[in-house]
Formats: sequence, structure tokens, C-alpha cells
Amino acid sequence: MEEAKNLSKAYEPKQVEEKLYHMWVENGYFTPEIDYDKEPYTIVIPPPNITGQLHMGHALDNTIQDILIRWRRMQGYSTLWLPGTDHASIATEAKIVETLAKEGKTKYDLGRDGFLERAWEWKREYGGRIINQLKKLGCSCDWTRERFTLDEGCSKAVSKVFISLYEKGLIYRGERIINWCPSCKTSISDIETIYDDEKGHFWHIKYPVNGTDDFIEIATTRPETMLGDTAVAVHPEDERYKHLIGKTVILPLMNKEIPVIADEYVDMEFGTGAVKITPAHDPNDFEVGLRHNLPMPRVMNDDGTINELGGKYSGLDRYEARKQIVKDLEEQGYLVNIKDHDHSVGHCQRCNTTIEPILSKQWFVKMKPLAEPAIEVVEDGRVKFVPDRFSKIYFNWMENIQDWCISRQLWWGHRIPAYYCQDCGEIIVADKAPEKCSKCGGELKQDEDTLDTWFSSALWPFSTLGWPEETEDLKYFYPTSVLVTGYDIIFFWVARMIFSAMENMKKEPFKYVYIHGIVRDAEGRKMSKSLGNGIDPLDVIDKYGADALRFNLISGNSPGNDMRFFWERVEAFSNFANKIWNAARFVLMNTDENKDYNTIFNSSKDNFTTADYWILSKLNKLIKEVTDNMEKFELGIAAQKIYDFIWFEFCDWYIELVKPRLYSDLDEDKSVAQATLIHVLKNSMKLLHPFMPFITEEIYSHIPQASESIVISRWPEYDEAMDFASQEENMEIIMEAIKGIRNIRAEMNVVPSRKSKTIIVSDREEVRNAMEEGSSYIQKLAHSSEVIIKGEKKDIPEDAVSIIIEGAEIFLPLEDLIDKEKEIERLMKEKEKLDKELERVRGKLSNEKFIAKAPDKVIQEEKDKEKKYMELMDKVLERLKVLK
Ligand SMILES: [Zn+2]
Ligand SMILES: [Zn+2]
Repeated sequence: MEEAKNLSKAYEPKQVEEKLYHMWVENGYFTPEIDYDKEPYTIVIPPPNITGQLHMGHALDNTIQDILIRWRRMQGYSTLWLPGTDHASIATEAKIVETLAKEGKTKYDLGRDGFLERAWEWKREYGGRIINQLKKLGCSCDWTRERFTLDEGCSKAVSKVFISLYEKGLIYRGERIINWCPSCKTSISDIETIYDDEKGHFWHIKYPVNGTDDFIEIATTRPETMLGDTAVAVHPEDERYKHLIGKTVILPLMNKEIPVIADEYVDMEFGTGAVKITPAHDPNDFEVGLRHNLPMPRVMNDDGTINELGGKYSGLDRYEARKQIVKDLEEQGYLVNIKDHDHSVGHCQRCNTTIEPILSKQWFVKMKPLAEPAIEVVEDGRVKFVPDRFSKIYFNWMENIQDWCISRQLWWGHRIPAYYCQDCGEIIVADKAPEKCSKCGGELKQDEDTLDTWFSSALWPFSTLGWPEETEDLKYFYPTSVLVTGYDIIFFWVARMIFSAMENMKKEPFKYVYIHGIVRDAEGRKMSKSLGNGIDPLDVIDKYGADALRFNLISGNSPGNDMRFFWERVEAFSNFANKIWNAARFVLMNTDENKDYNTIFNSSKDNFTTADYWILSKLNKLIKEVTDNMEKFELGIAAQKIYDFIWFEFCDWYIELVKPRLYSDLDEDKSVAQATLIHVLKNSMKLLHPFMPFITEEIYSHIPQASESIVISRWPEYDEAMDFASQEENMEIIMEAIKGIRNIRAEMNVVPSRKSKTIIVSDREEVRNAMEEGSSYIQKLAHSSEVIIKGEKKDIPEDAVSIIIEGAEIFLPLEDLIDKEKEIERLMKEKEKLDKELERVRGKLSNEKFIAKAPDKVIQEEKDKEKKYMELMDKVLERLKVLK
């Protein structure tokens, strides 16, 4: 056997994957050229965190991207899949702080510069881990263009955007209520705050009305915040309180006089209809405070302890203070009661500490003006969500958007390019540190804070292509074609990319947003560390290969929907790989490397057999259906169609149908069969390539006269001339006959070596012709000794078994199939068995006690059984009648 045919006996992913991946990269297949004769197709990777390790979500997300990229590359687009990583400010900083803690140090011991040095060191050592894991999955990213959110170019883009938004008045510094994590000691964004329902309490407290014996009762879930109360608010229309508006109450414990104000924000129906107002510790109260010009004292420190404004509670942790305050209120008679109350509490996504809404001086992006064009671009379809239902979530968020707090009290990240004059307080926002204050010549100090990580990833689709420089890449590859991501980061990321692109590029960042679901465990639970039910994609690859993992993630998957992970399915797809491998081995072993099959195939049009026409026509249809489904992002459906074609039509049927010709002495017929096999194998490997890149390349490389690599081979195209409808139909009739005969033989336990005469009766000429043509297939695949085709039902043995298919009736003489005596014996036994079963079931169903007690479901089950046994009995009796 020739060298090139040497596919090893079994498919071993480990021996193939690394070698092929290396070859692809080496040959530059993943690096596109800027070619204006070709259309570009671009995807930017959702940059994984440098602290990340590949999990199932990444595996799914990146498999989808790789399928799209490989497919478009084969279609002739100039495809760029741009990879990179995110510096993940809070996650990375937490990691470094943790390592330092083990050495007994804090970040302040190292100072800002020392700390950043450590962080870069860490990045150099571990930041590439996830990138290498993506390579194992087969991702065809252009690694020559790899980017990092903190690299020079991306940082330049960040600073440019910050300055430009500041100059337009769209970035401002102000005091607002932000989410504060007392443990991470930084502000965090709304979307990094995870809300859970918690069991809590409503503490009902009465505030004495100044100068009377009256009280106003309020309720709070955070009694410690009362230290910062500056008013009590009621609804202006509330008859219960109208007379108190404008009067004052005494704030218990603090012994401070605060006003009773009227504000429509108060819900009269809720609780007592009176609420305490703590402007520095609650976002709604803050708004009330602004409207009424209330003082806004902040009573808590950054670490969650009460500060000096908290009187005797100063220095206590917030929860310690709460206990003490409740105790004091009770002792002094201000506590009315405590009621259980479940409410939603925000937690820090990183460390799970309860978030404290707190008034703080931070940098904000003014969102309303930026949201408008971002809404428009989705409304008018320039950006489309797949599936479309996610655009509603997007609109809802965008239309209700709040200003975005972008400053973080962290060191690892883009430092805010703002400088404060130490003398006159002037703020200078600039790319480079100015030497002196432009106003007074005083000393300048840069803002200590860094920007929210999402500020830089929001620019990812254009910063990675070179913006703000007008690079060739930017001109050619922007806007990108599709963004692939999970539904969990529509707000975090997708929305911000859209408004950032509209603001800075005046053009949408991508044409489609493909949203996929999450991968759950076999029971449908989210994979999580705490449940310990996560499955490491690298383990799956190690055991079954990347192709099986990829196929498992895609088949059955539809846009926007969650999926479950079953090991059994991965195993099934690894069996699929083996089935393909064995089929390919068979084809290669039965073809001749030196024959020019392309030429033979192209000149064979008139020499094809029905089976050849059928498989070619089926392949042609498959090409159309797969391509159409991929255009619609229905990758799961495309994968299933390819699977079915290869497994059933090609392996189970065509290869079996074609075998006799391969062993034939008729050289021409043999060559046509071989050429068809090669053609179908080659094209089905191409269709499968985006889904299973490794095995398809390995097989392709062994196909005679195949091109250099399947990666850069041409995607098959639908060809009307390859549509053979009538031959296809004929073959299906033959297959129906074969299936029918096989079924009845299986039912009757006929061994394959026992051949029978096959009499086919049809009054339709075209069916008779088809059967005539297919008689050799029927002989071979339906164990037929002889195929007799008739126009009418004449001379058929009386005891023949009959099979009805569309357009024909098939008869198999009984004595060809079985020994009469033995069969009668077998059927009698069967009858006895069924009699017993029926007796048992009927006994139950006529038992009144059973009927009275058993659940409906159980009774129905028994009834179903009775029906099934009766049907079987009818069949047995029928067969016995014929035999006797
Ligand atoms: Zn935290
Ligand atoms: Zn100054």
C-alpha cells in the first residue's frame, strides 16, 4: 500500500491535533491579507481575563467563532479573527494582593510602582495561559495581531476617548451614590453588583415631632444609616401628615432636629407612608436630597466602619453599629417593632461582601446623549441581535440607562489622565502630565484612580485595529462582521461597545451580535466552583479530542439557548469521529493514488449509477442546507445535517451500495465508483471542517489530488447541474424496499445467510424500472437470491410474507425465510406467553380495589399494556393462520 494512504488504524486525536495546529500557524493560514478584491470578514474575540482559565463557556464561545471564521475563510473572504486578553483590573489586582498577603505584605508596602511591576510580572508569567488553551481547542486566530487591553495602542485609545468625552462635557467628576465594596475598597459598577434575595428585617422606629407628643413612624432595613438622616419625607397629598409638613422631628440617638419634607417620590401605600432620608447612603434619598437642598453627611468610612459624624458609634463596624443602635433605640423607647422582611441585597461580584451605597466623588460618563445613537443603530437594523429577542433587553437597558461610574480605587489599569493643581484646585485632563498648572503655575498631582476595565474593552473592536491611528487594518477590517458572546454580558460589554463605536467611529462596531446560552451540567445546573460541578474542557480534549468536544458543544445548540453537558454525548461524537475515520480508511484503501479522480469524475456524468446520482444529489442538497443554515447562524442544525449525511447516507448506505463495484473487474465502472467516493468524501470533509477541524484536515491530506490544506480549500457550492431529482427518487424507492425487507427479516429472526426470492409487484412502470435498476442493490443489501419484478399480482405463493411500500408490494416466499414447523412452535410459545400477560393485566383492571386506589397514571399504564399485548396477539394469530 502506498505511503499516502497510510491512515493509522484508529483515529488518535493526540497524535494529530498539535502537529496540525502547528502546521497551520507555521503556514500563515490564519493571517489574512488586506485584499480589496476580497470581502473582509472580521471577528474580534471577547478578550478573556488574563487571570482566566479556559472553562466550558469559553469553549462554546470560541468554537462558535472558529466555525464562522473557518467557514468564511473557505468561502474566500479575507478573514481576520483577532485575539487578545483583558487586563481585568479588579480580578488581577485581587490576585496580586492575595499573593502579597501570603508574603505578609500589603500593596501599600510595595507602593504603586512596585505593585505594578509585580502585576506585569504576573501577567508575563500567567497571562498567556488561556491563550494557549484556546490553541488546543483549534481556534484559528491570527496570533500575529494579538492584543492586550493595557498595551500601548489600546492605552492610547483609552486616553484619547477619555479626553474627548471630557472636552465634550460627557465625562464629569461629581458626587454621586455609587456601589462601594468595603472589602475591595473600590467603587464597582451596577452590573458588577449581584443582587440576591436575603432574609432581613424592617426596624420600625418612631421619630418624635418637635414640640409635641406626636411621633412619625418610619421603617428601615439599615438602621445604622439613620445616623446620616437629614429629613423625613411624606407624600404631599398624604392627609395623615399634611399638617406636619414644614415642621421638624428629633432624630433619635443623635438628638438632631431634621425637617419633615413633602416629596412625590414617597409611596403613600407603602408602610407608614413616611420615610427617613439619608442622602449620602441611598440613591433615591440622594435625589430627594438634591431636590430639597438637604445636607448630605456621610457617616461611614471606606472600610465600612462608622466615622466621626456617627457620634458615639464612631469606629464601630457597620453591623456592630447596627446592633448597638437597635439596642439603644429599644432602651430609649423609640423602637416600635421588628418585622421579618425579605429584600434584595447587592453583593460585590468579586468578594461577595455586601455592597454599601455611598456618596462618593468619582468620575462618570454622562450616558443619555451616548445612548441615543446606540439605540438608533439597533432600531434601524445596522446592528442585529441573533436571536432578535435580545434586542428588547438591550433597548430596555439603554432607555433606562444611568450615568456610568468609571473610576476605580485600584492601581492595575488605565490611570485616569486628570491632574489636580495643589494650589488653585484646577483640573487638567491631558494625555501627558503637564509640568505646571496652566492657571497658577502650581504643582500638579495625577488622579490616583484607574478606569473601570470595561472602559477599555468597550473600545476593543476598533482599538485593536489600530484606532486612533488610521491604519490599513482599521480601514479594511472595520466594522467587524459579528460579535459572539453570552447573554450575561450584553450590558457589561456589548452595549458599551456599541455606544463607544457610535461616538468615536460614527459607525457600528459589528453587524451582528450572536448571543449564545450557557453550558450547564447534565442536571441543568449552572457550572460553578461552589457546586464543584464544572467540567474542564481541557480534560475533555485530553480524553476525546478537540473535535468531539467542539461537535458536542455545537450540535443541538441554538442561538440564545442554554445547553447541558453530557459525557455520553462527547463519547458519541468521538464514535462519530471513528466512524468517519473508518469510512475514510476504507475509501483510501480502495482507491488508487495515481488515478486522476477529478478528471474521471468530471467526465463520468453519463456513467453514474442510480446510487451515484443519489449520493451526489443528496450531497448537493446538503451543501445548500448547511450553507443556508450557517448564514442564519443555525450552526446546530447545520452540524446535525452533516452528521446525518455522513453517518447514514454516506457510511451506512452509499459505501455498502458501492462495494460490489469496487471489487469488480470492470475497470471503468470501478473508476467511476472510486471517483464518486473520493468526491463525496472530500466534500463532506470540507463541510465538516469548521466543526471538526483536526480529523478533517488529517483525512483531507491523504485524499489523492487534494489541495495543500483543507483550511484554505474552497467551500463547496450548490450546483443545479448536480441535482438529480428523478434518480434520487428512484434510489429512495429501492431503499424503501431494502428497509422493508430488512425489517421483516429482523422481525422473523432470519439469519443473513438465508437468502430469499424477492417478488416485487407494481402497476407503475417507473417503479418497476427503478426496481429493475436497483435489483443488484436489493440482492446485496436485502439478502435476496433473485429479484422478480411483475406488473400484477399473479403466481405469488400463498404463504408469502408481504411488505407494502409506496407504489409497490413485495413478497417473500415463506419457505425461503423459515422452517415452518419450527416457526409454528415458536409462535405457539409466544401465544402462550401473551395469554398469561393478558390474563394478568385484565385481572388487575377488573379488580375494583386496584381501580379505586391506583393513581390514574398507573391505571393508564395497565390499559396501554393490555392494548399492546392484544396487538401482538393479533399478529401472532395472523401468522399462525397463514402457516397452518
Ligand atoms: Zn469586593
Ligand atoms: Zn493652579
